[in-house]
Amino acid sequence: MDEIRIENLEIYAGHGVFEEENRNGQPFFVNATLYTDTREAGQKDDLTLSTHYGEVSHLIHKCMREKTFQLIEAAAEYAAEQVLLHFPLVKSLSLEIRKPCAPIGLPFESVSVKIHRGFKKVYLSIGSNMGDKEQYLHEAVEKIKAHSFIKNVRVSELLVTKPYGGVEQDDFLNGAIELETLLSPIELLHFLQKTELEAGRERKIHWGPRTLDLDILFYEGVISQTKELMIPHPDMQNREFVLKPLAELCPYYMHPLFHKSIKQMLEELPR
Ligand code: ATP
Ligand code: CA
Ligand code: CA
Repeated sequence: MDEIRIENLEIYAGHGVFEEENRNGQPFFVNATLYTDTREAGQKDDLTLSTHYGEVSHLIHKCMREKTFQLIEAAAEYAAEQVLLHFPLVKSLSLEIRKPCAPIGLPFESVSVKIHRGFKKVYLSIGSNMGDKEQYLHEAVEKIKAHSFIKNVRVSELLVTKPYGGVEQDDFLNGAIELETLLSPIELLHFLQKTELEAGRERKIHWGPRTLDLDILFYEGVISQTKELMIPHPDMQNREFVLKPLAELCPYYMHPLFHKSIKQMLEELPR
């Protein structure tokens, strides 16, 4: 990825744990590296195709001035999030805040915090087999779209499928969702679980009837093998009701462990 850099942007602000720091303020220095594709802007010599470093600098300045945080960690989180939300061409960024006058009581040059944040591509599966299934799925998609840390949501066609796992129950309505998010994998899982609960989901029988089921299939760059969160979803390769709608959104997406495309995994399912 190409980079646009802002170096040592000086901002006088009041972040700190001590009350005097909040009251008197002190200088902070911000370094930001914006990861973006500058190719088209470079070829056409057109600023509207790129990200204006002046505007980004002013936004960081505003973020650092409009709130007072105890920690530079928190100031960095806030500024990074605001830059990512306001400048859609910035895919990710690293942001460093230096505090050269921190009250340490020892000679030092500077202390700093540096974070990396960005939008990650995610695929979900969505299903319902109780009550007004279409309505449950529709409401869930609307809640996902409304989340401030989620953008570029695409939804597959919904398909009616026979229940999976041997429990006698009503047919399912299933689909897949593509999105980009600033939420971490676990934050995303908790948001999806909250959305399930709001749809009246009760966990009674494993693989039993449910108003809403939202599973994370893939999360860009993440392989997770904890019981709470398995990514990629450990059984997706055996499920036509997952692979079929997913193949509509991303047929050539590669499974990071099997090294097979979704299309190929779908074709290899036993009939
Ligand atoms: P399956 O995961 O086989 O489709 P299920 O969706 O019916 O089964 P649930 O009862 O919805 O299972 O979830 C059980 C637990 O699975 C959750 O508490 C959650 O922590 C965990 N889990 C692990 N990996 C994932 C994932 N990728 N997406 C969603 N939940 C997951
Ligand atoms: Ca599931
Ligand atoms: Ca689930």
